[in-house]
Amino acid sequence: MTDVTVIGAGAAGLMSALVAGQRGRSVLVLERAERIGNKILISGGGRCNFTNLHAGPENYLSSNPDFCKSALARYRPEDFIAMVERHGIAYHEKKLGQLFCDHSSRDIVEMLQRECADAGVRIQTGTEIKAVRHVETDGSFELETSRGPVTTKRLVIATGGLSLPKLGATDFAYRIARQFGLNVLPVRAGLVPFTFGGKDLEFCRALSGISAPCSAQVIEEERPRGAEFAEQFLFTHRGLSGPAMLQVSSFWQAPAAVRLNLFPDGDARAWLEENRQSGQRLDTLLARRFPQRFADAWTASLAPLRAARDYSAVALDDIARQLENWTLHPAGTEGYATAEVTVGGIDTRELRSKTLEANKVPGLHFVGEAVDVTGWLGGYNFQWAWASGHACGQAV
Ligand SMILES: Cc1cc2nc3c(=O)[nH]c(=O)nc-3n(C[C@H](O)[C@H](O)[C@H](O)COP(=O)(O)OP(=O)(O)OC[C@H]3O[C@@H](n4cnc5c(N)ncnc54)[C@H](O)[C@@H]3O)c2cc1C
Repeated sequence: MTDVTVIGAGAAGLMSALVAGQRGRSVLVLERAERIGNKILISGGGRCNFTNLHAGPENYLSSNPDFCKSALARYRPEDFIAMVERHGIAYHEKKLGQLFCDHSSRDIVEMLQRECADAGVRIQTGTEIKAVRHVETDGSFELETSRGPVTTKRLVIATGGLSLPKLGATDFAYRIARQFGLNVLPVRAGLVPFTFGGKDLEFCRALSGISAPCSAQVIEEERPRGAEFAEQFLFTHRGLSGPAMLQVSSFWQAPAAVRLNLFPDGDARAWLEENRQSGQRLDTLLARRFPQRFADAWTASLAPLRAARDYSAVALDDIARQLENWTLHPAGTEGYATAEVTVGGIDTRELRSKTLEANKVPGLHFVGEAVDVTGWLGGYNFQWAWASGHACGQAV
């Protein structure tokens, strides 16, 4: 009988496995796909944004926000960076504490593979799990797989969320949780572009490819929901994307709105006042700060356009207010097909925060994205995968 079987050879599963292996446990990893770490390979545009220097509990969404604290405190970004450096992997900070490989995400997958091999972990790819049974007499687990039966003392479910089904994402973790009577919270796509309909869609389409800075926040029933992000937004042929929109999408649910402040680091009214005497028409003036086509489209609703100095103080107040509160109503999101993460999942109240073990089922652990802990864009999701995997690996 194997000591530990990990299902899913992604970020969290490989980390759990290598830590358990280093502690002398016999470890088997079962992966459905033909190769390991598929999501790591495509992440960060092929360069894997593997952690964030500033990752802390405040960078995560969860219906139980304290849950992630323990694992994140015990395995920090610097712990993962130490492993990366030990393997001689070159990396750099892109912005906002986001660390990327200089060369390729493959470096991270190969590092995890080597760590697993050194720790004696066996990895079996191309394996479907058909059934999982708990043997009540000795607390072990019996797995029926496409490559024969497996018996194991402890079972770690690390099969991730629903994003990118074309890469083989499955609802396996949620199904197993339900089979064992654990609550699963509603799931939705996160870090995902917004879609629009009607006139808003025409507006976005016409500007597709254009990006600009903003600070963005979700507005629900007139009140802000979730954090505000100062980043770029991007028009697409389906709606809005770019880092600012991906960030707020994780907090969004229909029929909430998204509010963009187009003057994230300044006061629109003061800027208009400063430039008022130039005599330029408002669209020309705004094109000093924004791409011309965006300035044209944004000011079209203010027709007839005038020189900035010809607006009354009250009218300029109103324009400034609109620039700082451009409010849009997405029709939806692009969904799991393009989402980077799944928000929601296994209710953390069912798990022990130190070990990620199910309260009701000793020996059964859930790690990574399958759990209701979702990071912001910028390396936070991998940090959760490493930290939760590490906490579990130390306990199994
Ligand atoms: C395009 C994209 C880019 C991203 N970029 C970043 C980034 O740069 N930085 C960052 O922090 N986060 C990024 N993320 C998010 C990050 O990839 C995930 O949060 C992270 O991979 C979750 O790790 P995990 O181990 O829980 O799940 P996964 O990495 O998804 O691993 C789950 C594994 O389980 C396997 N599996 C699934 N079902 C079964 C089954 N039934 N039986 C056996 N095996 C199964 C899967 O094949 C997979 O190998 C990105 C996501 C996407 C989609």
